[in-house]
Amino acid sequence: MDCLHCSAPLKGRRSKKFCDDNCRSAWHYRQKSNDSTLVSQVNEQLLQNRRILSRLMACNQNMLVANKAILLDRGFHFQFHTESHIDDRGLTFHFCYEFGYAALDKDHIQLIRLPAAAENKNRTGMPTRSTAQKRTADFYENAILRGLTKIR
Ligand SMILES: [Zn+2]
Repeated sequence: MDCLHCSAPLKGRRSKKFCDDNCRSAWHYRQKSNDSTLVSQVNEQLLQNRRILSRLMACNQNMLVANKAILLDRGFHFQFHTESHIDDRGLTFHFCYEFGYAALDKDHIQLIRLPAAAENKNRTGMPTRSTAQKRTADFYENAILRGLTKIR
């Protein structure tokens, strides 16, 4: 077996993983900084997603149908989100903080914003069922959305 840090062949105990304490601490340091790089990259992408959604929606707007291409052009990454919900129809919404998005078809994304006012939240900070139901009810009153749902 070779040293995990410098790849030098190891002598002695078979369970040995490093030449010495210097290699051991250098390796752990590198692992830790790789972890924090990943964490900050994910955080950065979540914040970027949130920024993109908030710029697309006017400040008084709670829902909008956007083109998927526009989101992608602006650097949105669909795989980064903070929580997910399925509405009564089985449509999956992913959220980046207070903004949610769901694919209506291959080109159209429904965007929603949770009300800023304090909502009923459970321990995990996720909107409770009643919040989700209320949001769903609001949602279907939107004529644009009703038009689009027929496509599905
Ligand atoms: Zn070494």
